[in-house]
Amino acid sequence: MGDAIRTAATRLAPISDTARLDAELLMAHALGLTRSDMLLRAMREPAPEGFAALIERRAGHEPVAYITGTAEFYGLTLAATPATLIPRGDSETLIEAALEHVCEHGGEQGRVVDLGTGSGALLLAMLANREGWEGVGIDASEDALAVATGNAAALGLAHCSTWHHRNWHTPGWADDLGTFDLVLCNPPYVEADAQLEPQVREHEPASALFAGPEGLDDYRVLIPQLRALLNPDGIAILEIGANQAEAVGALAAASGFATALRRDLAGRPRALILI
Ligand code: GLN
Repeated sequence: MGDAIRTAATRLAPISDTARLDAELLMAHALGLTRSDMLLRAMREPAPEGFAALIERRAGHEPVAYITGTAEFYGLTLAATPATLIPRGDSETLIEAALEHVCEHGGEQGRVVDLGTGSGALLLAMLANREGWEGVGIDASEDALAVATGNAAALGLAHCSTWHHRNWHTPGWADDLGTFDLVLCNPPYVEADAQLEPQVREHEPASALFAGPEGLDDYRVLIPQLRALLNPDGIAILEIGANQAEAVGALAAASGFATALRRDLAGRPRALILI
């Protein structure tokens, strides 16, 4: 099996920056084991039937998370399907910022809303780390909400979360949601003509990625609506594209917010905190 992983990693190298990891994850999936159990226990056994087919799917640019049906986010294992964006490590920046803010302000209890929740990753990561908080997730896609509610149930977080089918372009969409101490949002923010890797462009939902010519269309609609969603001391944390800090900051200022920027692990601007 060690040989099979090496061969597969070579096969995937042209299409993936993480070829070896991809091969290991797909091997673990083929065996029904975690990656660490596979590496510890099964390396000397022959490769299982079906492994080669998984590698061919990956070689055709299908993301590992859609092949295995799972993705890791902030220590949580989440179901992933093509109905939702695959949670990204970069988005953990928002959770770090949120948890820091909540710790500093002694928030034992609070309400958090995740706008465009997709798989539920942001909301569930927050709730998993904040007992006593309750969360609301909204999404314009019913298929995405089915994934999110399944994830909430699987993580034992259904009791503190509710999920609603809403579209922030529809007037009145938030009227019955109440107000929040924290708004989290990873909206679509990719420029319409951006060059994306095939694994993103051909497989992930366009509705979760693209937001007009500059990638700003959803911020333009959302930011003016945030104040009405927030409690007086509430803050909003928005994911942004690496080159959007200035433009989104200007939209926030026009709606009366002060802002702070937080960078991801690669040092790129990733989260804008609206205060
Ligand atoms: N960071 C994602 C990407 O570049 C985009 C996420 C989004 O639009 N919300 O693939």
